[in-house]
Amino acid sequence: MLLKINKFLSSDAISLKVNENFVIDDEDFLEKTRLNKIVLLNGEIFKIDDNLMFSGTVNYTFTGECARCLKEFDNTIETKFQAVIVKKEDKESDEIQFVIADGNVQMDETIKQLIYLSMPMKLLCNKDCKGICPNCGVNLNYEKCQCENNLTDPRLEKLKDLLKN
Ligand SMILES: [Zn+2]
Ligand SMILES: [Zn+2]
Repeated sequence: MLLKINKFLSSDAISLKVNENFVIDDEDFLEKTRLNKIVLLNGEIFKIDDNLMFSGTVNYTFTGECARCLKEFDNTIETKFQAVIVKKEDKESDEIQFVIADGNVQMDETIKQLIYLSMPMKLLCNKDCKGICPNCGVNLNYEKCQCENNLTDPRLEKLKDLLKN
């Protein structure tokens, strides 16, 4: 997606509010990340001397799997960031950069990177998720199983035998 800011650039305004829904159309990326392709960019572009800066958030939703119970669920993430808007990308720089050409800010690559880097590695459907029973596979959030009662430690069994004799 391109964000057209020609009018802002030629005006006296020092900032421009940005509130844009846009669609990520990179099928490989969508498949890899299981991202909902509609992403919201919210924030403001500032003119600071001869430089342009963006400050705001990106909001996205993706399908993830709970690390404990393996249930799939939707996660919505909001990532705050600041970026510089530059004519030519500086590969050496640590700053987040948007490239601008002919008054159009190119969003896709930078936003995809931000999304990729901000996705949580480990997800929980709920902080109190009880997970699944490692023995019988029952989802302990919905059902109780009898494993804990029936499971016996083989070492204890031996001990019991010894005590019997
Ligand atoms: Zn869970
Ligand atoms: Zn069980």
